[in-house]
Amino acid sequence: MTQDTTRPNRSGKPRQNASGQPRGERGPKPAFRGGNAKPTTNHRRHRDEPEEKFIRRAIPDIDTPFTRMGIDARVAVNLPPMGIDAPSPIQEKAIPGIVEGRDLLGLAQTGTGKTAAFGLPMLTRLLNIGRKPEPRTCRALILAPTRELATQIAANIDAYAAGTAIRQFRVVGGASINTQTMRMERGVDVLIATPGRLIDLIERGAVDLSQTKYLVLDEADQMLDIGFIHALRRIAKMLPRERQTLLFSATMPKLMEELADSYLTDPLKVAVNPPGQAAAKIAQGVHFVNQGDKATLLAEYLAKHREELAIVFGRTKHGSEKLSKLLEKWGYKVAAIHGNKSQGQRERALSGFRAGETKVLVATDVAARGLDIPEVAHVYNYDLPNVPENYVHRIGRTARAGRDGRAIAFCAPAEIGELRAIEKAMKAPIPVVGGEVPFEAAKIRERGGPAGRGGPAGQQPARKRPARRPSRAPKSA
Ligand code: AMP
Repeated sequence: MTQDTTRPNRSGKPRQNASGQPRGERGPKPAFRGGNAKPTTNHRRHRDEPEEKFIRRAIPDIDTPFTRMGIDARVAVNLPPMGIDAPSPIQEKAIPGIVEGRDLLGLAQTGTGKTAAFGLPMLTRLLNIGRKPEPRTCRALILAPTRELATQIAANIDAYAAGTAIRQFRVVGGASINTQTMRMERGVDVLIATPGRLIDLIERGAVDLSQTKYLVLDEADQMLDIGFIHALRRIAKMLPRERQTLLFSATMPKLMEELADSYLTDPLKVAVNPPGQAAAKIAQGVHFVNQGDKATLLAEYLAKHREELAIVFGRTKHGSEKLSKLLEKWGYKVAAIHGNKSQGQRERALSGFRAGETKVLVATDVAARGLDIPEVAHVYNYDLPNVPENYVHRIGRTARAGRDGRAIAFCAPAEIGELRAIEKAMKAPIPVVGGEVPFEAAKIRERGGPAGRGGPAGQQPARKRPARRPSRAPKSA
């Protein structure tokens, strides 16, 4: 992860201009507003930095759907080379209100373009301040539940802010707190933090939130699931009353309403993909299988799509680790991410997976939520989540960026209750793609439970056989 001073070259692709041409191959130079595109000296910069950066800081005279919504041209110019030409639904609904200064309650999952929905107006606002932040302060604070999501947000902000003087800094657990303390001495425009580490830094006197006028709570429901509610309440008290707050959540549990009430003032409410509804492009299925046979079944599925990326969700850290070792033994290129892995191990596992060097990622919920890797073609719910909403988040790791994706849930006899809860939350049955429908599930379907009303699952012949006990104790993940 680059932080603060280095600029990413956006997924390693050659830098391009606003019309999508690689740099150096563009035709006439874009016109610049204000007439004075002359490079200026900036003493904060290193002398041998390329001159181009100074030129880029002039305001490009461009007209795009984003500039028309009030996004600063210095930011909007970075979007077309990233394939962002027109606003996504959440951006269309949220950006004008955010630009106006409204608080926002956004019901949206990762993958909808919500990072740009809050990031672009935030950068627009910061660009117009024109002063350096005070020591230890941040102008904007983005709170995220996991290190991985914080890292992803940081990479996006870097890309959107490329060529501007705006700097972000990411503070997460598992990295040196002393280095973070030292960096915060200078203050930063955008601080991206997990709540736990932010509290640690505040307690050390390394971070002062008294000047933070822009706050984003991303994946707020997961922050609550992880137990960050107390940290969030403490952080809320340290922020200035006069600020703009944006809260994004994929689901809206009761506790979230309370959190939203305490954080937001007259918020604009925006929802895309209402909670509980999985993205339409995901082909879902449930495969009934004894717990002891799940690993073999998984290997069969993986063997059919060896070259495609797959995420396998396990419930426990220990189980996920054991499963990844087993798959490795069976010859799969596999990595695992869960709470027992160090920050370095998690980042290495993710970068290997992103690069396609490892094809299978075994993960627990905490580690994998919010991941945005468009090449993920398959999600396997090796263990069904006991929080139904997590099913929606898990399967949302596939069918990203307009692609198709498949999500298969492995349901053991002991997991019928979880399956039922998931189908209830989704308000739709999951089609049966394999195995024998256990007695208990068949009964629910017959009674016209969530899985019995229409849909491919309902059409499946429900064999009335008593559920067999798992052949082995269900402990393998
Ligand atoms: P997010 O929901 O913020 O995690 O965004 C998911 C992905 O969508 C990221 O890779 C973004 O770069 C991409 N993206 C965001 N906005 C747009 C857009 N308007 N058009 C196309 N891609 C977008």
